[in-house]
Formats: sequence, structure tokens, C-alpha cells
Amino acid sequence: MSDLLLELTAPNGLKYSQPIGLFINNEFVKSSTGEKFATINPATETDITHVYAASADDVDVAVKAARKALKSEPYKSLGGPGRARLLHKIADLIEQNAHTLASIECWDNGKPYLHALYADVPMVVNTFRYFAGWADKIQGDMIETKPTKLIYTIREPVGVCGQIIPWNYPILMAAWKIAPMLACGNTTVLKPAEQTPLSALYFATLIKEAGVPPGVINILNGFGRVAGAAIASHLDIDKVAFTGSTQTGREIMKMASSNLKNISLETGGKSPSLIFDDADIASAVKWTHQGIMFNAGQTCTANSRILVQEGVYEKFVEQFKETVKNVSKIGDPFENTTYHGPQITQAQFDRVMGYIESGKSEGATLAMGGVPHKNINGKGFYIAPTIFTDVKDHHRIYREEIFGPFCVISSFVTEEEAITRANDSTYGLGASVFTENLKRAHRVARAIESGTVWINSSIDSDFRVPFGGVKLSGIGRELGEAGLASYTSMKSVHVNLGD
Ligand code: NAD
Repeated sequence: MSDLLLELTAPNGLKYSQPIGLFINNEFVKSSTGEKFATINPATETDITHVYAASADDVDVAVKAARKALKSEPYKSLGGPGRARLLHKIADLIEQNAHTLASIECWDNGKPYLHALYADVPMVVNTFRYFAGWADKIQGDMIETKPTKLIYTIREPVGVCGQIIPWNYPILMAAWKIAPMLACGNTTVLKPAEQTPLSALYFATLIKEAGVPPGVINILNGFGRVAGAAIASHLDIDKVAFTGSTQTGREIMKMASSNLKNISLETGGKSPSLIFDDADIASAVKWTHQGIMFNAGQTCTANSRILVQEGVYEKFVEQFKETVKNVSKIGDPFENTTYHGPQITQAQFDRVMGYIESGKSEGATLAMGGVPHKNINGKGFYIAPTIFTDVKDHHRIYREEIFGPFCVISSFVTEEEAITRANDSTYGLGASVFTENLKRAHRVARAIESGTVWINSSIDSDFRVPFGGVKLSGIGRELGEAGLASYTSMKSVHVNLGD
């Protein structure tokens, strides 16, 4: 094995080859500075391995490779059908390597292996196949004006993209960015989060195996303030796509203004769930539990604010606590019985614990959890599923994104109050409404300020459906046909048929 490819054995016994270099021009290389950083297993707090960290110079080399690939054969003339074949081939290879990818994701991120295998990986495959279907359907329009004019539009690739992704769904977030980028004929420099660098590097080997031409997809691990900032401010990157915190989104927007990059941001949320008296309570409990506790609460659309109409408040809270107790089994992420893994890092653990202290000191009632949970070896960034009740709208735990297995439950009286309070947030990513009343369901869905509203479910996003936020939750849409818009640029052609 070279010093850029390590033979690793995952905790479940899987032996595989893990690249640790920067993936530029379809080759793994060391960073220009030689700097590496450790990636940690959050369930045991032990180092898994060290990977190379990109410098601004490395980003520049990758951007040059992406620019060259955009303008060169074979990529330039591949056309929609050719790009569709690549996307399908990538999907095939991900399916064939599902066990390896799920194991890496479980090890590096701490999410349960079975969730990675049966949720994350199939969603990745679906995303690639869906955008494979679009690759040969990127079409313009003909626009009627007057008989002496023929006017048509062409949807062209935006160009070289910079894509910056978070750690909560590492391989899925890479798929959401790479699949539409490739379908539309762009090239990219993608930076995974420094907390979860491994699955994207393994995925890079599949990109090469699929036959994606060199330079089309470059994957560089590294730190946000170095590699991420170099991407966001690079003058030869045409578009930046980001998922992560609102604060970083703001900084990226400022840096991207240097050359007025096309920009899409998917940032934070404090998504409300409204449960009305006429809801199917058992179903509402099932979905809101999943909506906040899945992935240890580290989902951007997590329904972290649960508002329950007063007539069913007590019943809901009791059943919700019961479900958390029965379903959210804490444990080793590689165990088949585990639902609830650790938080991603010590920093996230500290952040969530800080909010638990804040909730207590502001006078809300800690109804469940609120304590660290020790794994078998006494280690791991685990926090017991946490519920606060009697929460007031001005409490920090009601207003701020926490990103942990932590929800606040509050009661309301009228529909109008529920809508006003749901919208009383700087965020607008997701919301869910539980009611058996058809008219109310659609009325409330329209009144809520958010990019997505789920009626009688929560957080079950779909690759065919546009996804994104309003207010401080972001700009632009990913997925669905709308997801193509941010990876194409519209050119209008005027043909004068007159004198
Ligand atoms: P972050 O926004 O700092 O990191 C996300 C990505 O941005 C990473 O790849 C990171 O390296 C990069 N980045 C960081 N600073 C950058 C900069 N100045 N320029 C360019 N890129 C930069 O998020 P975090 O610190 O890992 O998590 C903090 C909080 O963000 C969480 O508690 C949660 O509230 C939120 N978050 C949201 C999502 C989401 O899906 N919307 C995902 C992760 C985290």
C-alpha cells in the first residue's frame, strides 16, 4: 500500500482500502504543505486515521483542473446521454459498494450502520439515477415575440462549481451536490466537512472507476477557514453551493461576492411541528419522534419545536416520551439494535449540553434526558434523547438551532396562534402539520413560512422534490427539476428574420 492508500479494518471487521489524499485530476495526491488532520470515531473518541488537508494553493490546482476539464475532450462533447451513462455507472458502483460505504459512514460519523445502509446509501443511489434521467433533458424554450423574430433559450452549464458540505449526511450531501452538477455538464471542486472526510474519498475511487474524465470531480478535504474559504473566494469558480450553518453561509456569501458567483445555500432551521386536536396522535408521535431523534437530531429539517393543541397536549407528551424510551435505543452504532448514536464531535456534544443548561436555567421543565450517556467503554459523545416542556417562546432553546436529540414541546390554543408562533422564527426550512381535517391541513401549509411543509409526516425528503429554505434557512433549491436551475445558466438567442 502506498502512503496515500491505507488498508483499514472497520469495527465490524470490514477490511478495505481507504484513500487519504486530495483527489485532483482523478489521482490522489498529498497536500502542498503536507498537513494532515485526524478524523475521530465519535462512538469511542479514538482516531480512525489522518487525511491530507488542502491549502489555498491546492484548491487553486484543483480549480485549474476543473476549468481545463470543462473545456476539453472527452467531457466537452460527452453530451447528455454520455453524462447520464456516467451517473448510472456511479449509482451501480455505489450499490455494489453499499456495505463498505455504510460501514465508513457509521465509523466516521457515528450514525447507526443499518440507517446508513438502508437510508443514506439508497438515497444516494436514487439521487444519481434521478439526475441521470435529467442529463439528456436539459432543454431551452422557444419564445414567440413577432413574425420577424425567432427567439430561443439554451441552458448551459454554469461552469466550475465549488461545493462545500457538512458532516451530518456526508455521502448523501455529496450526492445532492455532485449529481445535478454532473447532469448539467459542469465540473467541481468539492470540500467535505473536516469531521467526516472518509466516505467522500472512498467515493472518489468509484468516480474514477465509473470513467468520469479527470478534473471533472475533484474532492479536497480540509478546514473551512482555509480550503472552504479558498473555494468561496476563488475568482475562477463560477458557482458556490453550500450546506451548513447560517453563520458560515453568511461568510460564504460575502466571499462569493468577489466575482458575483451564482450561489445556493442550505443552512439552518428550527422547524416547527404543529399537532392539532383532530390529529391521529399515534401517527403524529411516530413521525415527530423520527423527525427529531433520527440521526441523533443532526438533521437540518429536524422538527425541534413541537407545538401541541391544548386538548391533546398531555396525551401527546406521554406517548412521545414512551416512544422515545422504546425506540431511541442508545448504543454502539454497529449494533443492529441501535437507533441513537453519538453526536459528531466533542464541540457538538458541548454545544448541546450547553443548551440543556440554558433550558434549565431559563425555567423550562426537563421532562426527559438532559444527560450524557456513556457507551460500553465509558466513551463517546452520546447525549440521551432530551425533551423540554413548559417552554416559552423567548427561551433560547425555543429559538436557536441546537442540532442534537433535543426538542421543546409547548401548547397552543387556536390555529391562528399556532401559525403565528410557527412563523415567529428567523428560520424557514421545514414544518409539519398533523391534522385529519383536510381544509385545515392545506390552509396551514399555505400560511407557514418555510421551504417545505409536511402534512402528517416529517423530514421524509425525496430526491424528486425541491428542497431548500426561506429566511435564514437559505437561498435556492436542490433536488427535483428545480435543482437543475442552479447548475445551468440561461442564454437567450435572438434571430432577426426580417430586414
Ligand atoms: P459549518 O457551517 O461551520 O460547516 C459546514 C461546512 O462549511 C464544512 O465543510 C466546513 O469546513 C465549511 N466551512 C466552515 N467555515 C467556513 C468558511 N469560513 N468558509 C468556507 N467554508 C467553511 O458547520 P459546523 O461548525 O460544522 O456546525 C455548526 C452548526 O451548523 C451546527 O450546530 C448546526 O446548527 C449547523 N449545521 C447545519 C447543517 C445543515 O444541514 N443545515 C449541517 C451541519 C451543521
